[in-house]
Amino acid sequence: MKPAPFRYADPRSVGEVLEVLAAEEGAKVLAGGQSLLPLLSMRLAAPAVLVDLNRVPGLDAVEVDGEGVRVGALVRHAGLLGDHDAARVQPLLARATANVAHPAIRNRGTTVGSIAHADPAGEMTSVLALTGGSVTVASPSGERAVGWRDLFVGPLETSLPGAAVVTSAFFPALPPRSGTAFAEVARRKGDYAVCGAGVVVTLDEDRRVAAVRASYMSVGLVPEVHDLTESVAGSPVEKADWAAAGALARTLVEPDGDLHASADYRRLLVGVLTERTLADAAAEAAAKVTGE
Ligand SMILES: Cc1cc2nc3c(=O)[nH]c(=O)nc-3n(C[C@H](O)[C@H](O)[C@H](O)COP(=O)(O)OP(=O)(O)OC[C@H]3O[C@@H](n4cnc5c(N)ncnc54)[C@H](O)[C@@H]3O)c2cc1C
Repeated sequence: MKPAPFRYADPRSVGEVLEVLAAEEGAKVLAGGQSLLPLLSMRLAAPAVLVDLNRVPGLDAVEVDGEGVRVGALVRHAGLLGDHDAARVQPLLARATANVAHPAIRNRGTTVGSIAHADPAGEMTSVLALTGGSVTVASPSGERAVGWRDLFVGPLETSLPGAAVVTSAFFPALPPRSGTAFAEVARRKGDYAVCGAGVVVTLDEDRRVAAVRASYMSVGLVPEVHDLTESVAGSPVEKADWAAAGALARTLVEPDGDLHASADYRRLLVGVLTERTLADAAAEAAAKVTGE
C-alpha cells in the first residue's frame, strides 16, 4: 500500500516548524520516519502535511554535564549509542539504545522521535521514566519542560498539543553509588521486546541496599516506574534477596496479553528479568562503593 497524498514542508528553524504546525490542521512532524512512514504506508495515519525537522539547525547535539544528558531532537539512536560521555553520566542510555531495533533503523530513527511516538514497547520511553527525565517542548506560546509523568497519556499518545515540537529530551545523571542493568526478551534480535526491564540499584555507604527502581517495556499502556525498595531495603548487597524483588514486581505490573505473549507469560518474564537485572545492577553499584 502507498501513503495517502500529503504535502511536504522542510522549514529551516523551530519557529518555521511551529508556523506550519499552527497553520495546518493535521500536520505531523517528521524526524527519522522509522515509525511514521510505516504508519503512512499502512494508511494507519494520513496527515495532510509532513513537517520535516531534518533541515532545522541546532537540534543534533548530545550535551553532557554533571546534571545529566540532553539529547537534541535530531540525534539518531546510533549517535547516542556511540556517545561515551553520555554513557558515563547515564549508563542506561547506551544499554537501552543497543536494544532498539537494527543498525539501519538506529542510523535514521531519533531518540526524541521514539519518545514522542510514545510506544509502551519502546526502550527510550521506559528509560525517560526510569531516570525521571523530561522533554523540552516548543509551541507558539513558548518553550517549557514536560516531565515524563505528564507526557505519556496512552499507547502512541502524548499530552502534546498539535502545534508543538519536542526540541530535546533530558535524562538526569545516575545518582552516586548506583548501578544499572537492562535486559529484554524478543522473538528475534532487534524486534520490539515481548518484555524488557531496566533497573537502578542504589547502595548506602555501608554497601546496604538503599533504593531499587524498575521500569518495563511492553507491560502496561504507558511507561511506569516501580519502587521495589521495600523487598530488599537495608540488606547487605551480597545477601539481598533479588528473587523477593522479582516477586514483588510481578504483583505490581498489569501486563496485557496479545498475539506475541499472554499476560501470564509477560508477568513471569517481569519476575525473571527483574531478578537477573537487579543482581547485575547491584554488582555494578557494589564495585563503585568498593572503589570509592
Ligand atoms: C522494523 C522496525 C523495528 C523497530 N524496532 C524498535 C525497537 O525495538 N524499539 C524501539 O523503541 N523502536 C523500534 N522501532 C522504531 C524506531 O525506534 C523509530 O526510530 C522511533 O520509534 C521513532 O523515531 P523517528 O525519529 O523515526 O520518528 P518518526 O517516525 O519520524 O516519528 C514518529 C512519531 O513521533 C512524532 N515526532 C517525531 N519527532 C518529534 C518531535 N521532535 N516533536 C514532536 N513529535 C515528533 C512524529 O510526528 C510521529 O508521530 C522500530 C522501527 C522499525 C521500522
